[in-house]
Amino acid sequence: LIELNQVSKTFLVKKQSLQAVKEVSLTVEKGDIYGIVGYSGAGKSTLVRLLNGLEIATSGSVVVDGENVESLKAKELRDFRKNIGMIFQHFNLLWSRTVAENIQLPLELAGVKKAQRQQKAAELIELVGLQGREDAYPSQLSGGQKQRVGIARALANDPKLLLCDEATSALDPQTTDEVLELLLAINQKLNLTIVLITHEMNVIRKIANKVAVMEQGRVVEEGTVAEVFRHPQQAVTKRFVQQDL
Ligand code: ATP
Ligand code: MG
Repeated sequence: LIELNQVSKTFLVKKQSLQAVKEVSLTVEKGDIYGIVGYSGAGKSTLVRLLNGLEIATSGSVVVDGENVESLKAKELRDFRKNIGMIFQHFNLLWSRTVAENIQLPLELAGVKKAQRQQKAAELIELVGLQGREDAYPSQLSGGQKQRVGIARALANDPKLLLCDEATSALDPQTTDEVLELLLAINQKLNLTIVLITHEMNVIRKIANKVAVMEQGRVVEEGTVAEVFRHPQQAVTKRFVQQDL
């Protein structure tokens, strides 16, 4: 589903060039839960933003679902993005809108009719286990419930890919587990491919099947979760694996 070939991204900061992502090549297959782990500044968020076209690679190619992201025109890019859901550490919900209205937002933007929107929102509310809370406002929800709204909203357009940027970092361990279980259930039920960024190895261990370790913009190690946990090669990977013992 995703093919990155020698992808680099350079930012210009005060006339200095900063290489946030360096020559990254990796493949994500349909149905994978692909974890990306690394310390702050390693380039994880930039890598994920390259996947949905929020950033365009300085060099190399990013192919998602058969589309070459850097070659898409503005309108094509907007359509392409509808195939990709995203959830965030701080949920990014609209505070003045109810649960149901937040979930319907992407459909509203896509011009879907009201009855159809409501129907879809009701299905998603059930999928994420928020029945009875459709008319609540985000401020009335727990962190785990807010992230469930975030997940439901991300799924509104039936995306092929879900990107999660530190989606459980603001949650306590038990709530983290509940949200991870929900993501795993959705992955299995919908065969949805998930790319998940984290700095917590236990998140990777619990739900990912593949993992890439990033350091200073590079993917320094990559493989199945079982293999990387059993035989970590790089110093940075060993530190992450140990942190989780
Ligand atoms: P964290 O765990 O703290 O979220 P990260 O691994 O997600 O870190 P990135 O946000 O991808 O790291 O940032 C990688 C590097 O690129 C950092 O040095 C950051 O300052 C820089 N960077 C990211 N986005 C931009 C931008 N839009 N303009 C300039 N520099 C940027
Ligand atoms: Mg980040």
